[in-house]
Amino acid sequence: MADQHFPTGTLMAGKRGLVMGVANKNSIAWAIARQLSSQGAELAFTYQGEALLRRVKPLAESIGSSILCECDVTNDETMDSTFSKLETEWGKIDFLVHAIAFAGKDQLAGSFIENTTREGFKSALDISAYSFVDAGRRAAEIMNDGGSMITLTYLGSERVIPNYNVMGVAKAALEASTRYMAADLGPRQIRVNAISAGPIKTLAAAGIGSGRHMFRFNKAASSLQDNTDPMGVAGAALYLLSDLGLSCTGETHHVDGGFHSVGMPQELALKESLGIS
Ligand code: NAP
Repeated sequence: MADQHFPTGTLMAGKRGLVMGVANKNSIAWAIARQLSSQGAELAFTYQGEALLRRVKPLAESIGSSILCECDVTNDETMDSTFSKLETEWGKIDFLVHAIAFAGKDQLAGSFIENTTREGFKSALDISAYSFVDAGRRAAEIMNDGGSMITLTYLGSERVIPNYNVMGVAKAALEASTRYMAADLGPRQIRVNAISAGPIKTLAAAGIGSGRHMFRFNKAASSLQDNTDPMGVAGAALYLLSDLGLSCTGETHHVDGGFHSVGMPQELALKESLGIS
């Protein structure tokens, strides 16, 4: 992705917003940030802890952004300070990108019913779903009329994906939250949508058991017979966050090469992916 060229233009000119969830250059949030910046957006970023600051700061600076806020979404103080810093610096914002999820590694392997603990369930739902409700409420308080918010989800919310387990439940809650938030904020012309991306190689994806098989299977079984390109996700984000997305809210938009729409994969491609002759 580092060498990819994001289409330039003015679709986001004059718009300012917060991007939550850049861990490194492979993060989906970073592809989205680059696309938004290439269209004229001004961006602020959150990061979790000093180690992440070392990685996020140079990325932010490379696109002319200097507003970095330390933020752990489970910590109200850091959420408060993040949004008050934005209000102090900018007064108002126009958009929010939420690309945050977490579940313990022990929760992301094997049997869902056997391995999901109360603590694991609570923390996955808190960090991966409630944080969008919390950040969305705070962002709406300082949004211009006509704002837009997005979050990132995955098909494991709708169907069983091996090892995705409690994260699938968290993503279902996240998608439902998106619809309720859209209804609440609609009268203020604030749109709220989710992008359901196919598997992309990032730090978060590395935590899920059977990752390699997942990429091969998705490539073989998707309509486009390819893995999901972060640029496609970034393009969808641009549509939803810019005025191109007018009238679109409460939606979960799939960017996964058509994988979600396939009932039965093409035999030949599937055999090749599984190494069967
Ligand atoms: P990523 O680069 O690892 O990003 C995940 C981000 O969540 C990291 O910046 C991480 O920060 C942050 N985070 C976790 N717990 C947090 C907390 N308590 N407070 C603040 N930030 C926290 O992985 P990604 O794949 O781009 O993930 C972004 C979003 O896309 C996630 O919602 C993920 O579920 C979703 N998604 C990913 C895929 C995929 O295949 N990669 C597909 C569909 C949807 P730390 O590194 O500091 O923990």
